[in-house]
Amino acid sequence: MEKREALYAGKAKSVYTTDDPDRMVMVFRDDTSAFDGKKVEQLDRKGKVNNKFNAFIMQKLEAAGIPTHFEALLSDTESLVKRLDMMPIECVVRNVAAGSLCRRLGIEEGLDLIPPTFEMFLKNDALGDPMVNESHIATFGWAEPEHIETAKALTFKTNDVLKTLFDDAGLLLVDYKLEFGLYQGQVVLGDEFSPDGCRLWDKQTRTKMDKDRFRQGLGGVIEAYEEVGHRLGIDFD
Ligand code: UDP
Repeated sequence: MEKREALYAGKAKSVYTTDDPDRMVMVFRDDTSAFDGKKVEQLDRKGKVNNKFNAFIMQKLEAAGIPTHFEALLSDTESLVKRLDMMPIECVVRNVAAGSLCRRLGIEEGLDLIPPTFEMFLKNDALGDPMVNESHIATFGWAEPEHIETAKALTFKTNDVLKTLFDDAGLLLVDYKLEFGLYQGQVVLGDEFSPDGCRLWDKQTRTKMDKDRFRQGLGGVIEAYEEVGHRLGIDFD
């Protein structure tokens, strides 16, 4: 597989075309950003850790019947993925209250959410990724209603798979964000799943082991990601 030209560079990953028009190379960089890109730092080993973390989770999801864009690890920081036509929507499921839910609704952090909530956000940094609903998405043509229905069902199915996986590793899956796209007409999970896009707390101590360590300046960011990975049995070397 030959890596060709840079297609897109996001805040933490870059994407390259390949000699196959249906495949791309996703490169995980050490860049770490928060608050819609207002806080940016380089964290040693992050690209490698997130690339291998993502590969592990995507393979678990695929095995559970959730279609993903992941194809293969190419190197420490590169993965081969299917080229999707992305929907500009972030799908968020929450099992425990944290982050923007607490800020918006005045809910105490740590409250169990039964049933888990589902929210969608428009990917638009300039607008601060505003929350949107099915009606906005249909009216403004951001995605087809049936594709959003499928994305929602797959986001909840992901919860069933990952809640158990993390629970077995002594971790609480507090919340997470997924992004979907279309591949040959099918809704497929794209982007990444790593501690950058979810919240994971130690089950016993409720210690934060995700990107909130970076957002809140708690330190030990990559050490926490690696600890999560080791508990899941991921080999980072
Ligand atoms: N999230 C993300 N990218 C974003 C916004 C949120 O990956 O642009 C993830 C975040 O890490 C958390 C979940 O989505 O796991 C819910 O985030 P929330 O709405 O609480 O926003 P935040 O407090 O992170 O601003």
